[in-house]
Amino acid sequence: MSTVSNSGKTVHVIGAGLAGLSAAVRLAVAGCRVELYEAAGHAGGRCRSFHDDAIGQRIDNGNHLLLSGNRDAMEYLNLIGSADSVTGPDRAVFPFIDFESNERWSVKPGAGLIPWWILSRSRRVPGTSPWAYIRDMRILCAQNQQTVTDCVPTDSILFRRFWEPLAVAALNTTADQGAASLMVPVIRETFGRGEAACRPRIARQGLSESFIDPALQMLKDHNITCRFSSRVRGLTFNGDAITALEFGNSRVEVSEGDAAVLAVPPLVAKGLVPGLDVPEESRAIVNGHFLLPAPREPQGFIGVVGGMCHWIFFRGNVASTTVSAAEEIVDTPAAELAVTMWDEITRALELPASPLPAHKIVKEKRATFAQTPAQVARRPSTQSAWKNFVLAGDWVDTKLPATIEGAIRSGRQAALAVLKFVSIS
Ligand SMILES: Cc1cc2nc3c(=O)[nH]c(=O)nc-3n(C[C@H](O)[C@H](O)[C@H](O)COP(=O)(O)OP(=O)(O)OC[C@H]3O[C@@H](n4cnc5c(N)ncnc54)[C@H](O)[C@@H]3O)c2cc1C
Repeated sequence: MSTVSNSGKTVHVIGAGLAGLSAAVRLAVAGCRVELYEAAGHAGGRCRSFHDDAIGQRIDNGNHLLLSGNRDAMEYLNLIGSADSVTGPDRAVFPFIDFESNERWSVKPGAGLIPWWILSRSRRVPGTSPWAYIRDMRILCAQNQQTVTDCVPTDSILFRRFWEPLAVAALNTTADQGAASLMVPVIRETFGRGEAACRPRIARQGLSESFIDPALQMLKDHNITCRFSSRVRGLTFNGDAITALEFGNSRVEVSEGDAAVLAVPPLVAKGLVPGLDVPEESRAIVNGHFLLPAPREPQGFIGVVGGMCHWIFFRGNVASTTVSAAEEIVDTPAAELAVTMWDEITRALELPASPLPAHKIVKEKRATFAQTPAQVARRPSTQSAWKNFVLAGDWVDTKLPATIEGAIRSGRQAALAVLKFVSIS
């Protein structure tokens, strides 16, 4: 790459994960000239699909569950023309199994803003009373320094079968460490808006097919091509502005009136931006993908209580397990994990016992930042100390957990901040 000087309103977006893509597509629609740089040979970052030889088909790096109330994610899918590529039940229903008692149930939130459904035994978690839900709503008043278990009692069935699975899924951090404040928007924006906002949604074909490839195609339609294998190695700041991006053997000038969005993981951002505080601790997620003897329709998932796995998803002839906040098992050999995961899949999906099929274990050691109160307090805001330089990523302070919704919202907020800057400069 040689030295490039941009004279128009160019926005340089660094990182083609969900946050960078979300910023890039909004900027493209707003008529900006966008230059998109990605260190890897592919886009998607922590949310992508790839071909796996062992399974013999494309799989996702990890199971990703959305809720219909994730407004930014849904808006993004609409914008890139792939709203139809996510699927799920017509009604909000979350099936569960408890391996200790072998009980199965489904949580079925009701319509309407007042959660009358907690009065119905067949809709709430078995063994819980409506009072327990009302009591635990004090989590909505959580203070910044409180963890989930500071707000809800841990000796209740509701904790074991609802709060703990929900907290671990949303925060990728155990309930005793996870920041209760991050649960507030999750509850308000989904469960708090009634059944229609908490229908589970999963990519029909794959994460890349839903979230990544259509975004790249849309950018291409705006004459924007992602520059893969372009790792930004340094940033130059001068006075109150970013003035250049360094790529090792080349440099791109950021001209007066132009802007940059940094949408890389937190520790990469810390290494590039002087004086930037970021959440530095992370939590792992381990997924296992297993070839099923026969396709299972329709596509779906089941929550697991009392097992190693937290969720089991099934799509076609692949069943995939998720273990979140997986620090305790992330260093266990994959072969050992596979045996336990397959055993839990056969139990949950009521499959006949059979030898371990073709499988792939994917360990994401830094799946998200550790969403503890102390780490949440280190999230920087979108606007940096430099007028033409903004931050995006699931670790930026959106007030949301580090999720698809959080990453996409951070990208939207970054794009809005840039548009404000370019319109006045
Ligand atoms: C296994 C797993 C399961 C998950 N499950 C769920 C779920 O069920 N629901 C949910 O909502 N969320 C889930 N998440 C979280 C979600 O995937 C992330 O929050 C989201 O993908 C983060 O996007 P991002 O753009 O902020 O970061 P990233 O995806 O990390 O993107 C950053 C990009 O920057 C690139 N980059 C890095 N350094 C440079 C550099 N120097 N120059 C240029 N480019 C660079 C990277 O290659 C990457 O493409 C899960 C995550 C994982 C890993």
